[in-house]
Amino acid sequence: MLTGMQIAVLGGDARQLEIIRKLTELDAKISLVGFEQLDHAFTGASKEKLGEIDFSIMDAIILPVPGTNLQGEIDTIFSNEKICLTEDIVSQTPQHCTIYSGISNKYLDNVVNSTNRKLVQLFERDDVAIYNSIPTVEGTIMMAIQHTDFTIHGSSIVVLGLGRVGMSVARTFSNLGAKVKVGARKSEHLARITEMGLEAFHLDHLPKEVESCDICINTIPTSIIKANVIAKMPPHTLIIDLASKPGGTDFRYAEKRGIKALLAPGLPGIVAPKTAGQILANVLAQLLEGDLDSGKESLS
Ligand code: NAP
Repeated sequence: MLTGMQIAVLGGDARQLEIIRKLTELDAKISLVGFEQLDHAFTGASKEKLGEIDFSIMDAIILPVPGTNLQGEIDTIFSNEKICLTEDIVSQTPQHCTIYSGISNKYLDNVVNSTNRKLVQLFERDDVAIYNSIPTVEGTIMMAIQHTDFTIHGSSIVVLGLGRVGMSVARTFSNLGAKVKVGARKSEHLARITEMGLEAFHLDHLPKEVESCDICINTIPTSIIKANVIAKMPPHTLIIDLASKPGGTDFRYAEKRGIKALLAPGLPGIVAPKTAGQILANVLAQLLEGDLDSGKESLS
């Protein structure tokens, strides 16, 4: 339970509603900023204006997945009000106050460093990334179906990268009956791909390996599907680039060659915002319970 905890939730999208639901169920006291247009009311959560919040009693601040922009502004789909997280606001919080965000940037790093507060980036955690790979794969299947005129079953699919997303993508497309090859650079990844019953190849041989590819799915967040790779693909190949912006594909060259290449960020929030929110809510609940326990220990 989170009884006695004071938490400020600043802005966000539908995923934040699952977080608010879970934390209020656990008896935390929540101040919501940027939710004026939300019809639903949660027992234990009150809608407030940023200027009305007493940050000196906050045990945690929860930001949306993208955190802030480079000017400190926080996006919200439930209000037209501008919310900005400043150094002044964070410095009003007690020393133990933890800031939770999906990811960070230079602005947010500077604010937490200059105020000496702890920042937890949920998307850096393996558990969050692995759970999140489930809706990501479902979104990738949706895109593959929408943008091709052939079945996944029986098609030749090249997956790039065997990280948390790559492994889930490769396994699921193989389970759907596709012929899946996975490209990686580490020998242990090549061994794991083989162990999974899939075809492994070293990324050095990428141009050759895409010669008969129907769908190429990239999870590597660096320039990898370069012009010399695209030049070898059959004209009907579909590229689905899952890597974070700007992706790993030479989109300009793909367009020039007439190869369809799609950058597909944020699939969990698009195809399954409820599940994506529950993934974050469950991990946050555990982390906040840990914060509460360590706070009690330091008082005893
Ligand atoms: P991850 O576990 O870190 O995996 C990244 C993979 O890329 C690893 O196999 C890594 O191999 C490889 N890699 C990284 N740099 C490389 C390089 N220079 N050359 C060759 N291989 C390289 O990351 P993840 O959690 O799977 O996420 C992958 C990407 O998808 C990220 O950009 C993430 O933000 C994005 N993502 C997108 C969505 C969406 O909806 N589109 C959802 C979730 C995540 P090594 O171990 O050899 O470095």
